[in-house]
Amino acid sequence: MATKIACIAGGEIYRQWDAGRIDGDRIGPRATPFGDSGEIFLINGPSPFYLLPRYGAGMDKTSPCRINSRANMYALKDMGVQHVLAWGPAGAITHNIAVGDLVILEDVIDRTYLRKQTFFEDSPLGFLRQFPVFCPMLRRVINNVLQSMKLVHRPSAVAAVSEGPRLETPAEVRMLMAIGAEVVTHSFVPEVFLAKELQMCYAAVCYVVNYAETGSRHKPFVAGDLFGGLSQSSETQRLAGAVGALSRIAAGVSSALDEVAVDCDCDKTMQHHIRQCNLPSDWRKWIQ
Ligand SMILES: [Zn+2]
Repeated sequence: MATKIACIAGGEIYRQWDAGRIDGDRIGPRATPFGDSGEIFLINGPSPFYLLPRYGAGMDKTSPCRINSRANMYALKDMGVQHVLAWGPAGAITHNIAVGDLVILEDVIDRTYLRKQTFFEDSPLGFLRQFPVFCPMLRRVINNVLQSMKLVHRPSAVAAVSEGPRLETPAEVRMLMAIGAEVVTHSFVPEVFLAKELQMCYAAVCYVVNYAETGSRHKPFVAGDLFGGLSQSSETQRLAGAVGALSRIAAGVSSALDEVAVDCDCDKTMQHHIRQCNLPSDWRKWIQ
C-alpha cells in the first residue's frame, strides 16, 4: 500500500533517526518546480510514514524564512501523501501551558512577512477560505493517540507564528497575548496554507520548549543556556520526555489513520475553483 502520511518536523526526530533509534531509509531531496525539497526519509514499521526534517538534516539548518515550504509540500503531494502531521517547538504565552506540554493547534495568527505563502502568485486560485484551519479529523486522531499514550497535552490552542529567527520581545509577547495567542512559534506557516492549496490534510502539534517573555514568567538571562534561562532544568527534563516520544506518536498516528474513516473535506478545498475555472484533474497543472 502506498504511503500517504508524512511527518514534517524540526531536527528532533531526525536526530533519533541519525542515532539509529528509528529504522528508516533515506530517500533524499525531490525535485519540484520550486526547487529541491528538503531531505525525505521513509520510516519503517507496521504503518510506514515519510519524514521531512523542516530545517534540513545535520548542520544545514536555515532560518525559518529560508525554508522552501513550497518545494516540501509539493514534493510530499507528488509522492502521494494526503495526511501531514507537523511538529514544531513553541513558547508558552498563557500560564495554563507548561514546558514539556504538547499542544494541538486549532488556529494561527500569522505574523510572518518574508515567506512565500502561495503556489498561485499569478492566478486567482489562492483565494481560499481558512476554516477550519487544521484538519479536524487529523486533530481528533492525534488527540486520541496522545490520550492513549497518557501524554500531557492541550487538545486546542491558538498559535502566533512570528518571523524569527530571533525570539520575541516582552512588548511583542504582551501584544500577542492581547490578540488571543496562547503559544508562539516560528513553524507551520506557510505549510498549513499551502496544504489547503493542494487539498491535503494538515495538523500541527507544538512541544512547548520555554515560556515566552510574559510578565511574572520573566526570568533572568543565563548566558550559555539555549533559551537564556526561560526554562529550568526540571522543565528541560520534562521536555526531553515529550520530544523523545515524538517518533512513537508519529507511528501511532500513522497506524491510527489506517483504521479511521476519512470524514473531513480537506480533499475538496479547491472544488469551487475547479468548477469555476474548469481546472484539470491533475493538480500539477493548476500550478504554472
Ligand atoms: Zn482532512
